[in-house]
Amino acid sequence: MAKKPYYITTAIAYTSGKPHIGNTYEIVLADSIARFKRAQGYDVRFQTGTDEHGQKVEIKAAEAGVTPKEYVDGVAGEIKRIWDLMDTSYDRFIRTTDADHEAQVQKIFKKLYDQGDIYKGYYEGKYCTPCESFFTESQLVDGKCPDCGREVIDAKEEAYFFKMSKYADRLIEHINTHPEFIQPESRKNEIMNNFLLPGLQDLCVSRTSFTWGIPVTFDPKHVIYVWIDALSNYITGLGFDLDGNSDPMVEKYWPADLHLIGKDIIRFHTIYWPIMLMALDIPLPKQVFGHPWLLVGEGKMSKSKGNVIYADDLVDYFGVDAVRYFVLHEMPFDNDGSITWELMVERMNSDLANILGNLVNRTISMTNKYFGGVVTNPGVNEPVDEELKRVALE
Ligand SMILES: [Zn+2]
Repeated sequence: MAKKPYYITTAIAYTSGKPHIGNTYEIVLADSIARFKRAQGYDVRFQTGTDEHGQKVEIKAAEAGVTPKEYVDGVAGEIKRIWDLMDTSYDRFIRTTDADHEAQVQKIFKKLYDQGDIYKGYYEGKYCTPCESFFTESQLVDGKCPDCGREVIDAKEEAYFFKMSKYADRLIEHINTHPEFIQPESRKNEIMNNFLLPGLQDLCVSRTSFTWGIPVTFDPKHVIYVWIDALSNYITGLGFDLDGNSDPMVEKYWPADLHLIGKDIIRFHTIYWPIMLMALDIPLPKQVFGHPWLLVGEGKMSKSKGNVIYADDLVDYFGVDAVRYFVLHEMPFDNDGSITWELMVERMNSDLANILGNLVNRTISMTNKYFGGVVTNPGVNEPVDEELKRVALE
């Protein structure tokens, strides 16, 4: 019998800089799920990658005195090196600068425009330059950017818009009839109550204020903004082709079983992405899981605070399996986890050295003492084994 397919993705990492251990958590978690599913007999496809366009990259590249492409080549290489160092078993590392991806994104944009879901207009609003995001007055927090807390400026630009509201009722219906779609449950309530039920605004899907992006084919002074570019990776990475010449992997693995992402980007994955797919008449992913964050002690990791911990430093010191164990152990399902060098040492000494190390040590000692170090009867099945199995299964 053919193995059942299972398609899992991480978010694609933004190539503005080297990822810290908090950003590395997601790939380790996804890898554990992928390995578990393979062990269960599924035919697993596991995708990760990098989101490489946008104004932030353009600015960073200029500061570094290199082209944006040279800049993202460097950062994407570094991200891939860390994913490999963490011993993660992905099947494709997609980059949004990959030619096959860019071609499909252009076709998708054109199709949405041709069928009237995208139209040209003007965007006026409050703009946060570092976040590259427009906000309405009501979305601001104390007059500042709700995402990063920085000052916003008044801005107006010609832009293309996606008619989100056209699909809102269908999306609400889908979320209501598929309770497993948004996980954990608390995130679903947030999406419904804060965004969907009050009414969706049309989404700005192009920019003219920078050039490092995929150009709109029929209006090349516009570049396609992050949403359609980045989110499409989940299908383009399988070899999706809008003209019907898709790779057989699309038929096999889509819809995805799980998009594993950070809780901060759940809105994009449970509103913008499903609406894009509805407009393209493509089935929706089965589940979007917004995981919590890994904090340093009690606070968010940031370069300005000087508390950033990198995966490669931890791996140099503790070894990769101990680091993988730590991040998986320390992250509860729905609440933020915490990492410090002290916690890492404590966990390693208590769980891995004392508990697991002792168990292995005692087992081997007794095997040597009582059985001469040889397992002679591996198929044995006595009442005591049944008892152990029963307890374990319970
Ligand atoms: Zn901001």
